[in-house]
Amino acid sequence: MSASARTALLGLVLACALASPSGSQAGEPPLFALTAADTFLASPLHHLPSEDAIDSLGTRLKLVQLDAAQRARLSDFVHEEESRCGGYFSFSSRAEALDFLARDLSLQAILAPPTLAYTLDNQATVAPWLAQVSEPVIRATIAHLSSYQNRYYQSTHGLNAALWIRDTWLALGNGRSDVHVELFNCSNCSTQPSVILTIDGAELPEEIVVLGGHLDSIRSGAYGNPEQFAPGADDDASGIATLTEVIRIALAQGWKPRRTVKFMGYAAEEVGLRGSAAIAASHSSAGAQVVGVLQLDMTNYRSGVPHHVQFLTDFVNGPLRGFSYQLFDSYLAPLGLVRKDLACGYACSDHASWTSHGFPAVMASEAGDTDDDFFPYLHSANDTLAYVGGTADSSIPFAQFALAFLGELAKTSAPPNDVFINGFESDP
Ligand SMILES: [Zn+2]
Repeated sequence: MSASARTALLGLVLACALASPSGSQAGEPPLFALTAADTFLASPLHHLPSEDAIDSLGTRLKLVQLDAAQRARLSDFVHEEESRCGGYFSFSSRAEALDFLARDLSLQAILAPPTLAYTLDNQATVAPWLAQVSEPVIRATIAHLSSYQNRYYQSTHGLNAALWIRDTWLALGNGRSDVHVELFNCSNCSTQPSVILTIDGAELPEEIVVLGGHLDSIRSGAYGNPEQFAPGADDDASGIATLTEVIRIALAQGWKPRRTVKFMGYAAEEVGLRGSAAIAASHSSAGAQVVGVLQLDMTNYRSGVPHHVQFLTDFVNGPLRGFSYQLFDSYLAPLGLVRKDLACGYACSDHASWTSHGFPAVMASEAGDTDDDFFPYLHSANDTLAYVGGTADSSIPFAQFALAFLGELAKTSAPPNDVFINGFESDP
């Protein structure tokens, strides 16, 4: 089997940060990567000078300076030998990385008891939502996002895709004064902004619920080429399309949350979780009360197995993961859907940015038959809708789960005393 075929077959797991490039490219300055020590020492880069580091969980880490080609080799190793995605945080300087470590709150984030009572009492809102999830709508969004040459963070295509998401979400807001859409730029995200849609909380505006996924894409072996072909239909147009469908359904009938809700399309996840790290840091600096974060990274692949949704077990908040199981078992299991667990390792996707800043986060991702069964075309030219069967069927359970997460964490603001039914005012 050729190396390229082997790469394609092994693929990665969920999340997927980083490229699998093989060459050195212009335009990418050296970076400082923080990665698991086990990963680094087993990789072909183990001979490079490195510093020992440790996070608040006791995870043994390595801090190493890499040029673009070296980062590519690290990425290849994580993908091909560890069969997973992501694997590191990226920093512009050593000082920045050390500051990140010094402030690491992963232990708190994983163990923290909930700051609000997790309750399942909003069936009146959630149940009707679940039936509204539309496969054609999700599919159309995936089709559009995967029609760009790429959504690479340093390309005009990656910028244009982000602006399209901004415009699409803005349209779904339909001019509501309590719905805002903004672009969030970060210092090492090049020209690609993250996109944030906020629905102001009507009763508890200081408490924030976050639902996110990454909007960028990347092609193995083409790192740095702004014209690389990287459709990224599954990774992670599917996550953005799922979030977009959740926004559509939640706003279609004027729903107002008690808590503030923020939907996020993160920039530059594939090169070290950059957009989400900047946003999480911003929320931390502002003292924001983020009560729960859901990350959706890759939702549209299934290999015909009985599992529909996979929950990550590591670097996530325990109580929020437990509540996610309750949500799934209450809302999705009765629909015949099945969940499984997976540990994905250090810095696996954008949830890790929130975890490192002390916020409670969970992540859901598509499930394979076994822990080694992954979407085989990750970071390749074949990450298209056609290679996931031409449908968005597999994303439906993720939209439904995200709607349950949204409705039960953000809750529904009490309706006014008077409601209108068929045009006639009546008492509720
Ligand atoms: Zn991804």
